Amino acid sequence: MKFENSYLDLGKAFYQQTLPVPVAAPQLLLWNTGLGDSFGLGQGSPDDEQKALIFSGNRIMEDSTPIALAYSGHQFGHFNPQLGDGRAHLLGELLDGQQRRFDVQLKGSGPTRFSRQGDGRCALKPALREFIMSEALHALKVPTSRCLAVVSSGETVYRETPQPGAIVTRIAQSHLRVGSFQHFASRGDLKSLHQLLDYAIARHYPNIAGDTSAKALQFLQQVAQRQIELICHWMRIGFIHGVMNTDNTAISGETIDYGPCAMMGDYHPGTVYSSIDSQGRYAYGNQMNIAIWNMARLAESLLPLLADDQQQAINLAETSIGQLVDDFSVAYRQMLVSKLGIEQANADTGPLIESLLSIMQEKELDYTQTFHSLTKFIERGELSEGLTQALHPWLGKWLTALGVAEVTEDNNMFARIGDARGEQLKRAVTTMKAMNPVLIPRNHHVETTLDMYQDAMLTGENWQQAETRLQQFLIALRSPYQQTEYTGQFQDAAADKDKGYRTFC
Ligand code: AMP
Ligand code: MG
Ligand code: MG
Repeated sequence: MKFENSYLDLGKAFYQQTLPVPVAAPQLLLWNTGLGDSFGLGQGSPDDEQKALIFSGNRIMEDSTPIALAYSGHQFGHFNPQLGDGRAHLLGELLDGQQRRFDVQLKGSGPTRFSRQGDGRCALKPALREFIMSEALHALKVPTSRCLAVVSSGETVYRETPQPGAIVTRIAQSHLRVGSFQHFASRGDLKSLHQLLDYAIARHYPNIAGDTSAKALQFLQQVAQRQIELICHWMRIGFIHGVMNTDNTAISGETIDYGPCAMMGDYHPGTVYSSIDSQGRYAYGNQMNIAIWNMARLAESLLPLLADDQQQAINLAETSIGQLVDDFSVAYRQMLVSKLGIEQANADTGPLIESLLSIMQEKELDYTQTFHSLTKFIERGELSEGLTQALHPWLGKWLTALGVAEVTEDNNMFARIGDARGEQLKRAVTTMKAMNPVLIPRNHHVETTLDMYQDAMLTGENWQQAETRLQQFLIALRSPYQQTEYTGQFQDAAADKDKGYRTFC
């Protein structure tokens, strides 16, 4: 393991150099074999005992210089000038087999200068949750940070109740956030702001070149484009991030900070589960607008670099955000029509999407199951009686738009689709299978798995069951577009439809 640390050259304004606080009894609970292998950390070296020491922060490798990064951010719309890694230590960076650079960060590794009231620790359940959810999103082809390890600390952390503690190791393309830029802009520290821009470009957008203004403008536009891609993926799979504060918006365009995230069951744009999001600011259907809002905060931070003349800088920023609004809408619509197997959005597909979504909302249809059923329908010509009725007459319009059947007055279109074995249909099936997962990490299955694990940890009983359950869940989640041996166990929607389900940061 050869750690590098490119942040160190940026200077003291960017971080606090600080060591993790050792824990009582580190024990390796989870290791991400595939991810570890990509960094050459496989085949028993380091062994589990060493991994537990390294990925708890109890042992610091020779070439690692742990730091806590400084950042600011808008939390639920309110600016907080002093955030930063309050319970995380960046051990350094590792290069994978393709020479791509990743941050290796411990979370729950003790307090830092940025901890404010916090204890610097992490409970076991949120640590396991981040592992499961990020692994699921990665397999669902959503850009995301990932987890390399979960190590239990042998200590108790106090939240609403006493809970076992853990440290999770997060691998990300970097930990630069919109809040990193806000940090220096809000302090009027233009030298650091400029340095940060150059660092971020070198690391994430190496194609950007030109003078400062040109670089800042392209940077803003390209970060915004990656937000479009990211949020459209979230919308595609029904992911609700839950805390889209500007300090949780990665410049790389990856999903970071899995605290209160959840999956939508029945389609409803107002779906929200976070216990602290009482206004529904970060509800499922608000995520695009919030991403735009966050990009406007990035644009604001970049104003001093965009042009010497302030008005000119504002004009450039406003034009970019205006373009983002347009591009977002196009990308979102294209994503939705692809979920229906249609190649190109056009004037007719808008109403087609709107009416499907409003039927789903009104009839409380499960988002994932509905699209999965439509996929099976065009593949095999089978559709349940209930869904056939719920979606009539929309189904006929969809098939017409797909170009695989005509709308007929009688009910023959279902028979006809079975005959329509054209190229068009094959392409639609392929697209839909790639867009519509068979399995998502449903809230109730995630929670049951976490509870089983925590109970086993606390009582020392039923370890085998908890372990087996988690491994089967992960196997299924790692192939979310295919039916695996274990998929069927985890596909059902919650019996109570997640009524009263709450997530916590
Ligand atoms: P988040 O909402 O998870 O993005 O966290 C917001 C801020 O609170 C970040 O600066 C975190 O480092 C900090 N924070 C969250 N939990 C703790 C904790 N238990 N101890 C110290 N700082 C924390
Ligand atoms: Mg955060
Ligand atoms: Mg968090």
